[in-house]
Amino acid sequence: DDERLRLPPWLKTSIPKGATYSELKRQLRELNLHTVCEEARCPNIGECWGGGEHKTATATIMLLGDTCTRGCRFCSVKTSRSPPKPDPNEPANTASSIARWGLTYVVLTSVDRDDLPDGGSAHFAETVSRIKELNKDILVECLVPDFRGDLAAVRTIVNSGLDVYAHNIETVESLTPFVRDRRAAYRQSLHVLKEAKSLKTDLITKSSVMLGLGETDAQVLKTMEDLREAGVDCLTLGQYMQPTKRHIKVVEYVTPEKFKHWEDVGKSAGFLYVASGPLVRSSYKAGEYFIANILK
Ligand code: SF4
Ligand code: SF4
Repeated sequence: DDERLRLPPWLKTSIPKGATYSELKRQLRELNLHTVCEEARCPNIGECWGGGEHKTATATIMLLGDTCTRGCRFCSVKTSRSPPKPDPNEPANTASSIARWGLTYVVLTSVDRDDLPDGGSAHFAETVSRIKELNKDILVECLVPDFRGDLAAVRTIVNSGLDVYAHNIETVESLTPFVRDRRAAYRQSLHVLKEAKSLKTDLITKSSVMLGLGETDAQVLKTMEDLREAGVDCLTLGQYMQPTKRHIKVVEYVTPEKFKHWEDVGKSAGFLYVASGPLVRSSYKAGEYFIANILK
C-alpha cells in the first residue's frame, strides 16, 4: 500500500547557495573529505556551512566507514555483520583536512561498529586529539553510538579532549523497539549519557529526538524529563522523514508551531539550548548554538 502522508509545504526545501557554501564545497574536493551534510543531501547545508551571525561554520564528518552493524528502521545506511576494517590513517588524515578546511565546529559521527571490541571509541578519540593538536580552537562534538553500554568506551570518548558528547535517544521509550535496532535500548542510551556527564561534569552533553513517529505529547515531555535527569544539556528535535518505502512510516507531520512549543517546553525544562523545527537534524547549526548559548 502507499498511503503515505503528503509532504506539507514547510518540508519542501530549496537547493543551498551562497558564496561561503560554494567555497567550502570547492575546498572539500581538494581535501578529500566526505561530509554527512553532502552525502545525506541535508537541507540545512547552506545554513550550517555558511555559519550565521557568529560566523560559525558547522559540518558533520563520518568516521569508521559507511556500513553499520545495526539496522534501525528509520535509517538508510548500509548494513553488514562484518563491515570492512577501519582505515588506521583515517584519524590523522581527517584531522589534517578539518584543520586546513578552517571549520569552527565539527561533528564527528559514525555508524555503529559492534564488530569492533571497543566499538571504534579509540578511533574517535584519536581523531579528536589530532584535531586539537593541530588547532585547539576547533570545537569538536562527537555523536557516538551507545557502545552497547560499554563504559570503558564512553570513558575513552570523554577523555579525548572533545567539547560536546552527543548520543541520540531518537524516540520515546515505548516506540524504541519499533524504531531503533533491537540492540539499542532507551534506558541504555540514558545510561551512557548520564555516565558521560558524571565522568566529567563540565562536559556538555547532547541528545536528539525525531518527532512524527506516533509519539504522544506526554511521551515527548517524559523523554525530555528523562534526558534532563541524565544531565543532558542540549536537545534537538526534528521531523522524522521516511527515507524509502521499506522504512518505518511517518505517522504525522508535526507543524512548525508545535516544534516551537517544544522548544519553549525544553527551555523551561532547563536545557541550555533546544534546536527544534521540522528540518532540524542533530547537528543543525551546532556551532552557532554552542557559541550563542554555551560560550556566551
Ligand atoms: Fe551537516 Fe548536520 Fe548541518 Fe545537515 S544539519 S548540514 S548534516 S551539520
Ligand atoms: Fe543508522 Fe545509526 Fe541505526 Fe546504524 S545505528 S542503522 S547508522 S541509526
